[in-house]
Amino acid sequence: MTFDANQFRLLPSVDELLHTTQGQTLSASFSHALATSALRLSLAEARDKIRAGGLCPSSESLLAAAELQLQQRFLPHLRPVINATGVIINTNLGRAPLSQEALQAVQNISTGYANLEYDLEQGTRGSRHVHVAQILKDLTGAEAALVTNNNAAAVLLGLSALALGHEVVISRGQLVEIGGGFRVPDVMRQSGCQLVEVGTTNRTRIADYAAAITERTAVLLSVHPSNFLITGFTESTAITELAALAHERGLLVMDDLGSGCLLDCERYGLAHEPTPQESLAAGADVVCFSGDKLLGGPQAGILVGKAAVIARLAKHPLMRAVRIDKMTLAALETTLRHYQRGEAERKIPVWRMISMTMETLMQRVTAWIQQLSTHGISARTQTGESTIGGGSLPGETLPTTLLALDASVVPYPLDILSQRLRSHTTPIVARIFRDTLLLDPRTVLEEQDTEVVAALISLLA
Ligand SMILES: *Cc1c(COP(=O)(O)O)cnc(C)c1O
Repeated sequence: MTFDANQFRLLPSVDELLHTTQGQTLSASFSHALATSALRLSLAEARDKIRAGGLCPSSESLLAAAELQLQQRFLPHLRPVINATGVIINTNLGRAPLSQEALQAVQNISTGYANLEYDLEQGTRGSRHVHVAQILKDLTGAEAALVTNNNAAAVLLGLSALALGHEVVISRGQLVEIGGGFRVPDVMRQSGCQLVEVGTTNRTRIADYAAAITERTAVLLSVHPSNFLITGFTESTAITELAALAHERGLLVMDDLGSGCLLDCERYGLAHEPTPQESLAAGADVVCFSGDKLLGGPQAGILVGKAAVIARLAKHPLMRAVRIDKMTLAALETTLRHYQRGEAERKIPVWRMISMTMETLMQRVTAWIQQLSTHGISARTQTGESTIGGGSLPGETLPTTLLALDASVVPYPLDILSQRLRSHTTPIVARIFRDTLLLDPRTVLEEQDTEVVAALISLLA
């Protein structure tokens, strides 16, 4: 080991570094204590380098290393990501992006005080639920509405309030696991009701429900199988039939729709997705759904239904534990207003993505390819399929045009490229299929196009 001991003597002290202009700026932006510890670490690294035969670094580079250390340490852990996977309601990537207006509403409501639980006309205490109840009633035709922090909470609240200590009848074909460990049988157990399964996985008839009803039955439950598709020899019971049976026997029908689609999916080339308005019209007493799946709003749970049923839920003790917060409420109200104004398809990102035409997708990818080619990167288009995701519309796809980067045009393995894209300033999540890296423009927000191209150029040119 040969190193120059004189180099050690050239190292400045922490104090000397702190007294430079750069050092002062560092303490001002991160605190004296953090600046000190970061500089100590920079000096320790410098000593290691000298010991390994290196030279004493300049004060500027010691300070720059300390600054970089602190910047990295204070990078937010929860960060924006560019979704190039083509999965629209991507649970891992935060489900539904909000509209600009919804975001603005969150800011307006949460940077100051708001009439969250205050009746401005009367000057008395109000309810947080009134802010969205009327719009939900108008949109779904319900008598009353209530909101919770997510749909799992809505299901738990509904069953706890309506069926505690009673039996709830459900089809075997609907005892599903939605994902993230949300299993219908577990939630039912947790809510203190007793599960009564009827029928078989693929076929359940109204007679199966009728035969299972006892004096202890309270609710007939229908659950949207979400991410699970039963095809072939199948039969399920319509809400109209369930409601007729339930009401004849003095019971209630609860319908967990999962996604909560307010628009007609068939108009977008997708399979029919049951809507809350249809379920209510068919006679369901209470219908619940998510705020951040096909509704395209914030994480929330929405319960709509008969006034007397919703009133029972509203005064249940669990309500306080699952209540929605003001930021969510602001985003939800604004999202619902997009539907009221008939501008959902234009304003709500999830619906913008679903309704994006092949022509637009092709134009965007072609523009990406052109910009890449000016930097000597050869990418091509490839037809592919985007999916809805979030457990909504399983098996349903939308045709799309992808940007394809073949392994042969990338100077290092594709998984390295994929990993480098994930560590970009705004991480980009793409997918690899066979020997090609694929990016779907449908789920990339249009304002992110330039960033996607810039990232690829920085990694490949
Ligand atoms: C997604 C889903 C849930 C859970 O909703 P969250 O809003 O994620 O809590 C419950 N039931 C069904 C049928 C679902 O699809």
